[in-house]
Amino acid sequence: MYKVAVLPGDGIGPEVMNIAIKVLEKIAQKYSFKFNFEFADVGGIAIDNHGTPLPENTIKVCENADAILFGSVGGPKWENLPPEKQPERGALLPLRKHFNLFANIRPVKVFDALREACSLKDKFFPNGLDIVILRELTGGIYFGQPKSINPEKTEAVDTMRYSKPEIERIGRLAFQAARLRKSKVTSVDKANVLMTSVLWREVITKLREKEFPDVELNHMYVDNAAMQLVRNPGQFDVIVTENMFGDILSDEAAMLTGSLGMLPSASLNESGFGLYEPIGGTAPDIAGQNIANPTAQVLSAALMLRYSFKMEEAAADIENAVAKTLEAGFRTGDIYFSDEGTQKVNTTDFGDKIISFI
Ligand code: NAD
Repeated sequence: MYKVAVLPGDGIGPEVMNIAIKVLEKIAQKYSFKFNFEFADVGGIAIDNHGTPLPENTIKVCENADAILFGSVGGPKWENLPPEKQPERGALLPLRKHFNLFANIRPVKVFDALREACSLKDKFFPNGLDIVILRELTGGIYFGQPKSINPEKTEAVDTMRYSKPEIERIGRLAFQAARLRKSKVTSVDKANVLMTSVLWREVITKLREKEFPDVELNHMYVDNAAMQLVRNPGQFDVIVTENMFGDILSDEAAMLTGSLGMLPSASLNESGFGLYEPIGGTAPDIAGQNIANPTAQVLSAALMLRYSFKMEEAAADIENAVAKTLEAGFRTGDIYFSDEGTQKVNTTDFGDKIISFI
């Protein structure tokens, strides 16, 4: 019995979460185990129902669970609230902090059937595009102190700070992830300018020598990495980097796949507890119409099976079912480009197709 805290959130969140739950139920049936799903409010709906984006009860439900499956939060209705009361700032960031989710994992994959959706020409990724980005999530310039702006608003400071243990723990995850893939890690830094990057490079190099000599490692400056991602993305297997560089590079890489509706993410802490969510937002422009792409949410559920429950076969089963749905020509609106060999379907039908391939 696996206990999962389910936080659908706002906008398309509940619509795509509904599909992910159905997929997980099919998986549980196939592999003969059970999920205990406990639902809780988060984000805008929690503000409406409880006056706060992250109610105490929601935290309790998460604490009692083996993993958190998160939808997305926010929307025009709550945009004018003070920043700390807004759905994203008031729910997602505190949740990450509460559970010390220091590692953000984003697989960036272009499914063969969807090569046309990629923003690059085919010739730039002849062998496909399948990268995993590991971003450090709780350190660096986003959190370092001092952080301030003077009263005259003429000067401001942010502090970038990293410690050896912080670098080692994200590095270790990157090398472990690489071992399950093509055994290649690219560590991204700015060691020609930043002292935190000098430390980063040294710690990652030593970690590899000591614990992962079988994994190939190369170092790349962040400006070059940004360029290489659009020049020759096929060269990457696992990318590991600090918080701000990862924030920027992972969005750049995500857009290579063409649609935000395709990409899942995992945020983990040291004991393997994780929060799993699509990288996109609540898509208010299409919410409530049953036309959103549920793939990112479904693949987030697959990541939960892989990282929190160590069920690699079941995770791969879901990923294959998504690939087969695409190969069979089914598309939601965001990835529908022509009627040649493809058919536009709604969220529910796309989900049913995925389930039929499990
Ligand atoms: P968005 O990701 O919601 O939407 C950007 C575009 O991508 C829209 O055109 C949308 O229709 C499309 N899109 C996104 N997911 C899709 C899917 N699954 N299927 C089909 N199309 C999809 O970003 P935004 O418009 O900048 O933000 C909307 C709201 O979401 C804001 O309130 C923002 O704060 C919030 N947001 C939340 C999260 C989160 O919860 N983690 C992340 C980003 C944005």
